[in-house]
Amino acid sequence: MPHPRVEEMGEGRRLLDLDFRDTEGLVAAYLVPEEDGWTLVETGPTSCRSALLAAIGAAGVQASEVRHVFVTHVHLDHAGGVGALASDLPNATFYAHELGVPHLVDPTRLVASARRAWGAAADPLWGPIVPVAASRVVALRGGESFPIQGGSLDVLPTPGHARHHLAFFDTRTRAIFTGDGAGVRLERSLRVRPAIPPPDLDLEQLFDSVEAMRRRDPRRVLYSHFGPSPDGPGDLARYRGIVEEWRDVALAAARERPDADYVTERLRAHDRAQAGSAAASTDDRSGLVSGYELAARGLLRYFETHGFLGQARP
Ligand SMILES: [Zn+2]
Repeated sequence: MPHPRVEEMGEGRRLLDLDFRDTEGLVAAYLVPEEDGWTLVETGPTSCRSALLAAIGAAGVQASEVRHVFVTHVHLDHAGGVGALASDLPNATFYAHELGVPHLVDPTRLVASARRAWGAAADPLWGPIVPVAASRVVALRGGESFPIQGGSLDVLPTPGHARHHLAFFDTRTRAIFTGDGAGVRLERSLRVRPAIPPPDLDLEQLFDSVEAMRRRDPRRVLYSHFGPSPDGPGDLARYRGIVEEWRDVALAAARERPDADYVTERLRAHDRAQAGSAAASTDDRSGLVSGYELAARGLLRYFETHGFLGQARP
Protein backbone atom coordinates (compact mmCIF):
# COMPACT_ATOMS: atom_id res chain seq x y z
CA MET A 1 0.00 0.00 0.00
CA PRO A 2 1.59 3.28 -1.04
CA HIS A 3 0.31 5.50 1.76
CA PRO A 4 -0.31 3.61 4.94
CA ARG A 5 -2.46 5.69 7.20
CA VAL A 6 -1.17 5.96 10.73
CA GLU A 7 -2.71 8.25 13.33
CA GLU A 8 -1.11 9.33 16.56
CA MET A 9 -3.76 9.03 19.29
CA GLY A 10 -1.74 10.46 22.19
CA GLU A 11 0.64 8.80 24.69
CA GLY A 12 2.36 7.09 21.75
CA ARG A 13 -0.67 4.99 20.86
CA ARG A 14 -1.28 4.67 17.11
CA LEU A 15 -4.20 3.75 14.92
CA LEU A 16 -3.24 1.79 11.79
CA ASP A 17 -5.56 1.56 8.78
CA LEU A 18 -5.22 -1.85 7.15
CA ASP A 19 -6.85 -0.75 3.89
CA PHE A 20 -9.07 -3.83 3.83
CA ARG A 21 -10.69 -4.27 0.41
CA ASP A 22 -8.60 -1.30 -0.72
CA THR A 23 -11.00 0.78 1.31
CA GLU A 24 -10.02 3.33 3.91
CA GLY A 25 -11.43 3.11 7.41
CA LEU A 26 -12.76 -0.46 7.48
CA VAL A 27 -10.31 -2.53 9.51
CA ALA A 28 -8.01 -1.11 12.17
CA ALA A 29 -5.08 -2.35 14.20
CA TYR A 30 -3.42 -0.48 17.04
CA LEU A 31 0.11 -0.05 18.34
CA VAL A 32 0.71 0.55 22.04
CA PRO A 33 4.20 1.31 23.38
CA GLU A 34 5.75 -0.88 26.03
CA GLU A 35 8.76 0.13 28.13
CA ASP A 36 10.92 -1.81 25.71
CA GLY A 37 9.05 -2.73 22.55
CA TRP A 38 5.53 -2.57 21.20
CA THR A 39 2.19 -4.25 21.63
CA LEU A 40 -0.03 -4.74 18.59
CA VAL A 41 -3.81 -5.13 18.96
CA GLU A 42 -5.41 -7.07 16.05
CA THR A 43 -3.61 -8.26 12.94
CA GLY A 44 -6.39 -8.06 10.38
CA PRO A 45 -6.58 -10.77 7.70
CA THR A 46 -3.64 -12.10 5.70
CA SER A 47 -4.83 -10.00 2.74
CA CYS A 48 -3.88 -6.92 4.82
CA ARG A 49 -0.44 -8.24 5.69
CA SER A 50 1.57 -5.86 3.53
CA ALA A 51 -0.58 -2.89 4.56
CA LEU A 52 -0.08 -3.75 8.23
CA LEU A 53 3.68 -4.10 7.86
CA ALA A 54 3.86 -0.85 5.90
CA ALA A 55 1.83 0.93 8.57
CA ILE A 56 4.02 -0.45 11.37
CA GLY A 57 7.04 0.87 9.47
CA ALA A 58 5.37 4.23 8.83
CA ALA A 59 4.75 4.47 12.58
CA GLY A 60 8.51 4.32 13.05
CA VAL A 61 8.41 0.86 14.58
CA GLN A 62 10.63 -2.04 13.52
CA ALA A 63 8.83 -5.34 13.03
CA SER A 64 11.36 -6.91 15.39
CA GLU A 65 10.24 -4.52 18.15
CA VAL A 66 6.68 -5.91 18.21
CA ARG A 67 6.71 -8.21 21.25
CA HIS A 68 3.07 -8.91 22.02
CA VAL A 69 0.14 -9.28 19.65
CA PHE A 70 -3.38 -9.45 21.08
CA VAL A 71 -6.43 -10.38 19.03
CA THR A 72 -9.95 -9.74 20.31
CA HIS A 73 -11.22 -12.90 18.61
CA VAL A 74 -10.28 -15.25 15.79
CA HIS A 75 -12.74 -14.07 13.13
CA LEU A 76 -10.74 -13.56 9.97
CA ASP A 77 -10.99 -9.78 9.76
CA HIS A 78 -9.33 -9.57 13.20
CA ALA A 79 -6.88 -12.46 13.35
CA GLY A 80 -6.76 -14.19 9.95
CA GLY A 81 -3.22 -12.88 9.49
CA VAL A 82 -1.72 -14.32 12.68
CA GLY A 83 -0.14 -17.36 11.02
CA ALA A 84 1.37 -15.39 8.16
CA LEU A 85 2.62 -12.63 10.45
CA ALA A 86 4.44 -14.96 12.81
CA SER A 87 7.44 -14.89 10.46
CA ASP A 88 7.17 -11.13 9.82
CA LEU A 89 7.12 -10.36 13.55
CA PRO A 90 9.88 -12.73 14.69
CA ASN A 91 9.92 -11.64 18.34
CA ALA A 92 6.17 -11.53 18.88
CA THR A 93 4.06 -13.77 21.08
CA PHE A 94 0.42 -13.97 20.03
CA TYR A 95 -2.45 -13.89 22.55
CA ALA A 96 -6.04 -15.00 22.06
CA HIS A 97 -8.86 -16.48 24.11
CA GLU A 98 -8.30 -20.13 25.00
CA LEU A 99 -11.34 -21.13 22.94
CA GLY A 100 -9.86 -19.35 19.92
CA VAL A 101 -6.27 -20.56 20.17
CA PRO A 102 -6.95 -24.06 18.74
CA HIS A 103 -8.30 -22.42 15.56
CA LEU A 104 -5.15 -20.34 15.12
CA VAL A 105 -2.95 -23.40 15.52
CA ASP A 106 -5.14 -25.49 13.20
CA PRO A 107 -7.20 -23.17 11.00
CA THR A 108 -9.05 -25.99 9.19
CA ARG A 109 -12.40 -24.91 10.59
CA LEU A 110 -11.76 -21.22 9.93
CA VAL A 111 -10.93 -22.03 6.32
CA ALA A 112 -14.01 -24.23 5.96
CA SER A 113 -16.36 -21.63 7.41
CA ALA A 114 -14.84 -18.90 5.23
CA ARG A 115 -15.46 -21.07 2.16
CA ARG A 116 -19.00 -21.76 3.30
CA ALA A 117 -19.76 -18.10 3.86
CA TRP A 118 -17.88 -16.54 0.96
CA GLY A 119 -17.34 -19.27 -1.61
CA ALA A 120 -14.64 -18.55 -4.18
CA ALA A 121 -14.48 -14.94 -3.01
CA ALA A 122 -12.92 -16.09 0.28
CA ASP A 123 -9.40 -16.39 -1.09
CA PRO A 124 -8.91 -12.86 -2.42
CA LEU A 125 -10.88 -11.43 0.50
CA TRP A 126 -8.94 -13.03 3.35
CA GLY A 127 -5.74 -14.31 1.77
CA PRO A 128 -4.20 -17.61 2.84
CA ILE A 129 -5.09 -18.68 6.36
CA VAL A 130 -2.01 -20.46 7.65
CA PRO A 131 -1.39 -22.12 11.00
CA VAL A 132 0.73 -20.54 13.70
CA ALA A 133 3.10 -22.67 15.78
CA ALA A 134 1.57 -23.49 19.16
CA SER A 135 4.80 -22.32 20.80
CA ARG A 136 4.11 -18.76 19.57
CA VAL A 137 0.61 -18.51 21.07
CA VAL A 138 -0.59 -17.95 24.63
CA ALA A 139 -4.17 -18.69 25.65
CA LEU A 140 -6.11 -16.13 27.69
CA ARG A 141 -9.27 -16.44 29.77
CA GLY A 142 -9.77 -12.84 30.77
CA GLY A 143 -8.51 -11.24 33.98
CA GLU A 144 -4.88 -11.16 32.86
CA SER A 145 -2.89 -7.95 32.82
CA PHE A 146 0.18 -7.04 30.75
CA PRO A 147 2.59 -4.14 31.26
CA ILE A 148 2.53 -1.33 28.71
CA GLN A 149 4.03 2.13 28.87
CA GLY A 150 2.47 4.02 31.76
CA GLY A 151 0.13 1.28 32.89
CA SER A 152 -1.27 -2.08 31.93
CA LEU A 153 -3.34 -3.72 29.26
CA ASP A 154 -6.09 -5.58 31.09
CA VAL A 155 -7.91 -8.49 29.45
CA LEU A 156 -11.70 -8.60 29.76
CA PRO A 157 -13.71 -11.67 28.80
CA THR A 158 -16.48 -10.32 26.58
CA PRO A 159 -18.47 -13.22 25.09
CA GLY A 160 -21.57 -12.53 23.02
CA HIS A 161 -20.42 -11.61 19.53
CA ALA A 162 -18.48 -14.88 19.84
CA ARG A 163 -17.87 -17.10 22.84
CA HIS A 164 -14.16 -16.45 22.65
CA HIS A 165 -14.28 -12.66 22.38
CA LEU A 166 -11.98 -10.48 24.51
CA ALA A 167 -11.69 -6.74 25.04
CA PHE A 168 -8.54 -4.97 26.21
CA PHE A 169 -8.44 -1.98 28.55
CA ASP A 170 -5.50 0.42 28.50
CA THR A 171 -5.27 1.72 32.09
CA ARG A 172 -3.01 4.62 31.11
CA THR A 173 -5.35 6.23 28.60
CA ARG A 174 -8.56 4.59 29.88
CA ALA A 175 -9.22 3.43 26.32
CA ILE A 176 -10.94 0.15 25.59
CA PHE A 177 -10.28 -1.97 22.51
CA THR A 178 -13.72 -3.43 21.91
CA GLY A 179 -13.07 -5.59 18.82
CA ASP A 180 -16.60 -6.38 17.65
CA GLY A 181 -17.95 -6.78 21.19
CA ALA A 182 -19.59 -3.35 21.23
CA GLY A 183 -20.57 -3.23 17.57
CA VAL A 184 -19.20 -1.40 14.59
CA ARG A 185 -18.96 2.31 14.08
CA LEU A 186 -17.22 3.51 10.97
CA GLU A 187 -15.91 7.05 10.77
CA ARG A 188 -18.70 9.53 9.98
CA SER A 189 -21.36 6.99 10.89
CA LEU A 190 -24.12 8.50 12.96
CA ARG A 191 -24.50 5.56 15.26
CA VAL A 192 -23.18 2.17 16.23
CA ARG A 193 -24.34 -0.78 14.26
CA PRO A 194 -24.85 -4.24 15.70
CA ALA A 195 -22.11 -6.80 15.06
CA ILE A 196 -24.12 -9.96 15.67
CA PRO A 197 -23.01 -12.76 13.33
CA PRO A 198 -23.38 -16.53 13.49
CA PRO A 199 -22.41 -19.07 14.64
CA ASP A 200 -22.34 -18.54 18.41
CA LEU A 201 -24.00 -15.17 18.96
CA ASP A 202 -25.48 -14.96 22.45
CA LEU A 203 -27.37 -11.75 23.23
CA GLU A 204 -27.57 -12.18 27.00
CA GLN A 205 -23.82 -12.66 27.18
CA LEU A 206 -23.33 -9.74 24.81
CA PHE A 207 -25.34 -7.40 27.05
CA ASP A 208 -23.42 -8.57 30.13
CA SER A 209 -20.15 -8.00 28.31
CA VAL A 210 -21.09 -4.46 27.34
CA GLU A 211 -21.88 -3.79 31.02
CA ALA A 212 -18.50 -5.24 32.01
CA MET A 213 -16.81 -2.87 29.57
CA ARG A 214 -18.79 0.08 30.95
CA ARG A 215 -17.78 -0.81 34.51
CA ARG A 216 -14.18 -0.02 33.62
CA ASP A 217 -15.40 3.54 32.95
CA PRO A 218 -13.51 3.95 29.68
CA ARG A 219 -12.96 7.45 28.33
CA ARG A 220 -12.38 6.20 24.87
CA VAL A 221 -13.79 3.36 22.77
CA LEU A 222 -11.50 2.04 20.05
CA TYR A 223 -13.37 0.01 17.47
CA SER A 224 -11.72 -2.45 15.16
CA HIS A 225 -14.23 -1.08 12.62
CA PHE A 226 -13.11 1.70 12.89
CA GLY A 227 -11.03 3.87 15.15
CA PRO A 228 -11.95 5.98 18.18
CA SER A 229 -15.61 6.78 18.70
CA PRO A 230 -16.41 10.49 18.90
CA ASP A 231 -18.54 9.57 21.95
CA GLY A 232 -17.29 6.27 23.34
CA PRO A 233 -19.17 6.22 26.67
CA GLY A 234 -22.38 7.27 24.91
CA ASP A 235 -21.96 4.63 22.22
CA LEU A 236 -21.40 1.93 24.84
CA ALA A 237 -24.47 3.09 26.76
CA ARG A 238 -26.63 3.02 23.63
CA TYR A 239 -25.41 -0.24 22.15
CA ARG A 240 -27.71 -2.58 24.04
CA GLY A 241 -30.81 -0.63 22.99
CA ILE A 242 -29.79 -0.69 19.34
CA VAL A 243 -29.17 -4.45 19.43
CA GLU A 244 -32.55 -4.93 21.14
CA GLU A 245 -34.24 -2.98 18.32
CA TRP A 246 -32.64 -5.25 15.73
CA ARG A 247 -33.51 -8.34 17.78
CA ASP A 248 -37.17 -7.30 17.99
CA VAL A 249 -37.42 -6.47 14.29
CA ALA A 250 -35.75 -9.74 13.35
CA LEU A 251 -37.87 -11.80 15.73
CA ALA A 252 -41.11 -10.33 14.42
CA ALA A 253 -39.92 -11.03 10.87
CA ALA A 254 -38.71 -14.55 11.71
CA ARG A 255 -42.06 -15.42 13.25
CA GLU A 256 -43.69 -14.49 9.95
CA ARG A 257 -41.04 -16.17 7.85
CA PRO A 258 -37.88 -17.70 9.34
CA ASP A 259 -35.92 -17.00 6.22
CA ALA A 260 -32.56 -15.19 6.11
CA ASP A 261 -33.37 -13.10 3.03
CA TYR A 262 -36.65 -11.92 4.50
CA VAL A 263 -35.13 -11.04 7.88
CA THR A 264 -32.21 -9.29 6.12
CA GLU A 265 -34.59 -7.02 4.22
CA ARG A 266 -36.57 -6.16 7.35
CA LEU A 267 -33.39 -5.24 9.21
CA ARG A 268 -32.22 -3.11 6.32
CA ALA A 269 -35.54 -1.28 6.13
CA HIS A 270 -35.55 -0.72 9.89
CA ASP A 271 -32.01 0.60 9.98
CA ARG A 272 -32.55 2.96 7.06
CA ALA A 273 -35.71 4.32 8.65
CA GLN A 274 -33.97 4.82 12.01
CA ALA A 275 -30.81 6.37 10.71
CA GLY A 276 -32.37 8.48 7.96
CA SER A 277 -30.86 9.33 4.63
CA ALA A 278 -27.71 10.76 6.20
CA ALA A 279 -26.65 7.21 6.99
CA ALA A 280 -26.87 6.04 3.41
CA SER A 281 -23.32 7.04 2.57
CA THR A 282 -21.79 4.92 5.33
CA ASP A 283 -24.31 2.12 5.01
CA ASP A 284 -22.63 0.39 2.10
CA ARG A 285 -19.21 0.55 3.76
CA SER A 286 -20.55 -0.84 7.03
CA GLY A 287 -21.93 -3.78 5.09
CA LEU A 288 -18.38 -4.72 4.11
CA VAL A 289 -17.57 -5.59 7.72
CA SER A 290 -20.95 -6.14 9.38
CA GLY A 291 -23.78 -6.56 6.92
CA TYR A 292 -27.50 -7.00 7.47
CA GLU A 293 -27.33 -10.53 6.12
CA LEU A 294 -24.74 -11.58 8.69
CA ALA A 295 -26.88 -10.05 11.44
CA ALA A 296 -29.99 -11.80 10.13
CA ARG A 297 -28.26 -15.16 10.06
CA GLY A 298 -26.71 -14.59 13.48
CA LEU A 299 -30.06 -13.69 15.02
CA LEU A 300 -31.93 -16.53 13.28
CA ARG A 301 -29.48 -19.04 14.63
CA TYR A 302 -29.67 -17.47 18.09
CA PHE A 303 -33.50 -17.61 17.99
CA GLU A 304 -33.44 -21.24 16.89
CA THR A 305 -30.93 -22.39 19.48
CA HIS A 306 -32.52 -20.41 22.31
CA GLY A 307 -36.11 -21.53 21.77
CA PHE A 308 -37.49 -18.25 20.37
CA LEU A 309 -39.00 -19.97 17.35
CA GLY A 310 -39.65 -23.38 18.83
CA GLN A 311 -43.11 -22.89 20.35
CA ALA A 312 -45.73 -25.23 19.01
CA ARG A 313 -48.43 -23.43 17.10
CA PRO A 314 -52.11 -24.03 17.75
ZN1 LIG B 1 -14.96 -7.73 12.73
